[in-house]
This record gives sequence, C-alpha cells and structure tokens, in this order.
Amino acid sequence: MTAIGFIGLGVMGGPMAANLVKAGFEVTGFNRSPAKVQRLVEAGGRGAASAAAAAEGADVVITMLPDSPDVEAVLLGDGDDDGVLDRLAPGTIVVDMSTIRPDVARSLTAAGASRGVRVLDAPVSGGEQGAVDATLSIMVGGDAETFAAARPVLDALGRTVVHVGPPGAGQTVKAANQLIVGGTLQLVAEALVFLDAHGVDRSRAVDVLAGGLAGSAVLDRKAPDMLDRNFQPGFRVDLHHKDLGIVTAAARDAGVALPAGSLVATLMGALRAQGHGDLDHTALLLQVEQLSGRSPAERSARDGK
Ligand code: NAD
Repeated sequence: MTAIGFIGLGVMGGPMAANLVKAGFEVTGFNRSPAKVQRLVEAGGRGAASAAAAAEGADVVITMLPDSPDVEAVLLGDGDDDGVLDRLAPGTIVVDMSTIRPDVARSLTAAGASRGVRVLDAPVSGGEQGAVDATLSIMVGGDAETFAAARPVLDALGRTVVHVGPPGAGQTVKAANQLIVGGTLQLVAEALVFLDAHGVDRSRAVDVLAGGLAGSAVLDRKAPDMLDRNFQPGFRVDLHHKDLGIVTAAARDAGVALPAGSLVATLMGALRAQGHGDLDHTALLLQVEQLSGRSPAERSARDGK
C-alpha cells in the first residue's frame, strides 16, 4: 500500500483525497482550516495537525493549494516553519497538483532534486465535478520515470492522464487550458445576453448550439449555471484571475501576443475588482449584463416603466 500525504483539502483537494481513500491508499491529510481535515477523516482518511505531519513517512506527497506562494511556503518553508521537502526521505515523490507558475514549478523540481526528492507538476482540469467523479484531466511535467512511478496514484484521480514534457510543462499546458476556458466562458456569457436581448428562449438555444461547432464542455457545464444564476463556486474568479496572470506573464516571457487572452484577463480582473472574487467564474455573465444595461434590476426597472 502506498502512503499518501495530502496537503490542501479545499474544493478540489477534499474530493481528490477522498477518492484516493476509496482506491485503497492510506491517506493522511492537512488543511489550514481544520473542518476540512475532519471531512477527510469521515471519508476514511487520517488527519494531521501540520503539513509536515501529513508528509511524514509518506511515499507520495500531494499538494493542492491556491497559488505559487502557498506551494513554496509549504514545500520550502516559511519563516520559522521547516519546508516539507526537508523532511522527506530521498526517493519520495512530491506531486504538486495546484495551478502555479511554470517557472516556480521548475525551481521546486530543482529544490527537490538537490534533496533527492522527485517532484512532478501535475495540474488538473475538470472542475469540482471532475474531482468528485475522479475524471480529471491531469497534465504532468517532469521526469518520465517519476511519472511512471506516480501513475497509479494519478489514475485514481483522473481519466485523462498525460505526461506532457519536462518540469514546468504541465503548468504551461494548464495555462493554455485556462486561456481557452476563460475566453470561451466570456463568449458564452456574451451569447446568452445577446440571445436574451432578442427574446430568444435561451435554454433551447443552448441545446441546439451544443450540437454544432459552438458546442464545448464549457457550454455544456457552465451555461446551465449562468441561466440559473447560480454563481456558487466551483472555480472562483480569484483563482481564474491568478491563472490569467500566469498566462499573460508566460506569454510575455515567450514573446507571444495574446490579444483576445489579454482582454479576457482584463475582464476577469475587473470582475474581481468589483468584489466578485469569491463567485464562480460564470459570474462573467454579470459583467456582460452590466455593460449592456441588462442586469435583472435594470430590466425590471425598464419593464415597470
Ligand atoms: P480552495 O481555495 O477551495 O482550496 C485550497 C485549500 O488550501 C483551502 O482549503 C485552504 O484552506 C488550503 N490552504 C491554503 N494554504 C494552505 C497551507 N499553507 N497549508 C494547508 N492548507 C492550505 O481552492 P481549489 O478550488 O481547491 O483550488 C486548488 C488549486 O487547484 C488552485 O491552484 C486552483 O487554481 C486549482 N484548480 C481548481 C479548480 C476548481 O474548479 N476549483 C479546477 C482546476 C484547478
């Protein structure tokens, strides 16, 4: 049996850790807010009081944390706290499944290598539902032998697991994923406001659009939430804003122009600046409605006249 230390039990990490328990792994988890550790214990895992305690004696350590500084703090240490990397036996595998900067992923792999610890970057796509159903797409950067060794663990979390290249490559592919998802979501939001303004039944429109070239996983999974005005995360605007920052910085480093991507990054940032950082990224709809004077309040005020 492989012992797994799991650090970060939020929207994604919670169900992922529970799936590893279901698959027969021995899972010890830690999260900054303890209620989430309790949920893992109820699912059959063990709880730890610190990241270091969760990682102690593990064969594989998984991190599923919000952003680059969080992963660096946990793995490399922060102030008085030792980093997890310093506590691991040589040969241990660390799989960072958070979405972070590709350059940080590369430096964490190098920091691991200097201690004999093997690090993979393995960000995911598929959202909360994909985490619950263990159907995530997992894009893995790092050494091929380490990927092969970690594969049984990754297979318990996802359906499409692909080794995409050397350290950092997983995060680069994830950045491209976030570019496509952000751009598509914005256009789905615009299409829904456009259809509504023309008095078309939007739910029927989405059904037919889904069967043609405009069909996509984003349309299938996110248009119903937009129509229900359900903006509960899911994937928070704050996190997508972070990801589009990664995309624009990495594009700039490579000398690549992303005209539409840069605009979407600005729109996501504007949504966050208006106080919507904790909503699901489907809240892009609110901003399109606002730009067109078609928020529910504006519409009822108009209809009342
Ligand atoms: P989340 O905020 O729900 O979960 C992160 C968890 O980490 C929280 O429970 C938080 O308490 C914990 N945490 C933060 N710092 C910690 C620390 N130092 N030690 C221990 N725990 C700590 O976020 P999420 O939605 O689960 O996303 C996690 C990562 O996965 C992010 O990088 C995100 O971009 C990525 N991601 C999210 C989704 C999604 O749909 N939610 C999809 C794909 C990828």
